[in-house]
Amino acid sequence: MRKKIVAGNWKMNKTLQEGVELAKTVNRQVEDNGVIVILCTPFIHLSEVNNVITKDSLFLGAQNCASETSGAFTGEVSVDMIKSTGSEYVIIGHSERRSYYHEDDAQLNKKTKLALAAGLTPIFCCGEVLAERQANNHMKVVKTQIENGLFDLSPEDFAKVVIAYEPVWAIGTGVNATSDQAQEMHKAIRELVAEKYGTQVANNTSILYGGSCKPSNAKELFANPDVDGGLIGGASLNASDFMGIVNAF
Ligand code: PEP
Repeated sequence: MRKKIVAGNWKMNKTLQEGVELAKTVNRQVEDNGVIVILCTPFIHLSEVNNVITKDSLFLGAQNCASETSGAFTGEVSVDMIKSTGSEYVIIGHSERRSYYHEDDAQLNKKTKLALAAGLTPIFCCGEVLAERQANNHMKVVKTQIENGLFDLSPEDFAKVVIAYEPVWAIGTGVNATSDQAQEMHKAIRELVAEKYGTQVANNTSILYGGSCKPSNAKELFANPDVDGGLIGGASLNASDFMGIVNAF
């Protein structure tokens, strides 16, 4: 069966000391009850946060990785470096990376393959902007992102990927997708995966929802049959909000 996952994306927030304190609090409160909880911290926090994790259900992840393996790429952080901190996950293709840093499908495909080769689990993000939804293009946009980003992976590699559907208009806006909108898209993504990799792989793929998820709406969103958890931005910066979402399962 597919995994239930709640991943926090801290983005560019928290000093090292603040991050370690937050991680300690989350670590204390996480129960080993079948929900996988992931802290995706800034790069410089990874190693220190790894040192405070003692729970079997709590994991570490990065928010991005380089699209090259090593060498003269000033300021970049490779998948092997990330792996060496104790991280097991990496977010790839977050909408902020796609829009502010112009990361395209080909680059994200390359990053996904590098992450898998390094033994990291990619959390591959997809999602439409508001204009695309208003033009009724959202299904096509997400389909293209997934096909271009992931569909040349072997079935064995694809089976290791987590998908996060994050409508861009819902990220950080306070306006979440409705439960029906989330379910409709998650179901479509699962059907797309089934067409390419078969029903068994599709049924085992965790598809997370992201976009203004909070303790007050998580229960309803997670109750959908094709929503397997959440990728959480703002609400992951506060332990009680984040744990309220984790405990929504
Ligand atoms: C995100 O950036 O991945 C996200 C879902 O942000 P927020 O929860 O703040 O909308």
